[in-house]
Amino acid sequence: MTTGRRYPEGMRCPMCGVEDTRVIDSRPADQGTTIRRRRACAECGHRFTTYERGVPVLLVRKRSGRLEPFSPQKLHRGVEAALADRPVSPSALAELLEDVEAAATAHGGPMPSEAIGRLVLDGLRVLDEVAYLRFASVYKDFQGAGDFGREVAALEGESARDALEVGEDSAPLRAGVVKQS
Ligand SMILES: [Zn+2]
Repeated sequence: MTTGRRYPEGMRCPMCGVEDTRVIDSRPADQGTTIRRRRACAECGHRFTTYERGVPVLLVRKRSGRLEPFSPQKLHRGVEAALADRPVSPSALAELLEDVEAAATAHGGPMPSEAIGRLVLDGLRVLDEVAYLRFASVYKDFQGAGDFGREVAALEGESARDALEVGEDSAPLRAGVVKQS
């Protein structure tokens, strides 16, 4: 999986030297040229802050207006949840994630989280309509059956009706990058 390379999680703890530290918060600094990360050591519990410069930083603008670093891992988790038990190959998932990340890179400047969600939806619509509806129900904050029905109506033919039946049974999903708060 190439999507994790941009943000290495490993960073040595300055107290005990163990490399197993966890990122507990990330936010952009210096107009997005630097990422400030709070980390916690899994071994001794020490917490420390790193400022990582010179990494290509993709920023996402949340609905609240807050900027956050683009997280391929969060995006991956969200899309993977929507694809649970669906007949979609891991390579197709990887390709979708790479396409979305490439588009976000090409965008330049902070990309609205809604736009990223829309890219995911466009990709899922081609791959699998059930996954598409699952992701859409989270992404669009559907308020009720009316919204859901309109989305289904936008899909075509028999498969859309099948998708609706499956979609109604599925539990609400958390969808990574478009729903983090
Ligand atoms: Zn430590």
